[in-house]
Amino acid sequence: MKKEYFTKTPQETREIGKKLAEKILRKPLSLKAQVIGLRGDLGAGKTTFLQGFAAGLSIEEKILSPTFVIMKKFKIKNSNFKKLVHIDCYRIEGSSQIKELGFEEIISDPQNIVVIEWAERVEDILPEETIFIDFRFMNKEKRKILLGF
Ligand code: ADP
Ligand code: MG
Repeated sequence: MKKEYFTKTPQETREIGKKLAEKILRKPLSLKAQVIGLRGDLGAGKTTFLQGFAAGLSIEEKILSPTFVIMKKFKIKNSNFKKLVHIDCYRIEGSSQIKELGFEEIISDPQNIVVIEWAERVEDILPEETIFIDFRFMNKEKRKILLGF
């Protein structure tokens, strides 16, 4: 099922991220990691969404757009999920580069939540169960968010 949202502020986008995190925390662990693929152009709101998502997991560290870092891990407390893995594919040249980071192992661990920015660039290696979220820039403040969940 697809849900469509329009947000008018970064805070509204964070709020949608937070709600999704709360929903995922209520799900029982599956056999593999929960993978979430964020698609959309630069400035569309992917990192902003993830900031709200991390807040929903009670992660206090700042989530930034990594300039040189491709992957960052955050501890999740008080949940069956143990780690949030943030992967940003903006600078990668192909899926093989992600594989080199130990991607197969990361997505095999049921206690991981893996959020991937620029997921369209590595779609060929994402599991079938990936939740895709599409971000569209409408105007300076308005974004469209399409959630396939
Ligand atoms: P991405 O990760 O997709 O490149 P970012 O989340 O880093 O995008 O950047 C989005 C930028 O747009 C931020 O500077 C944010 O403050 C701004 N912005 C303005 N309106 C919104 C909105 N409704 N939702 C999300 N971000 C917004
Ligand atoms: Mg980003």
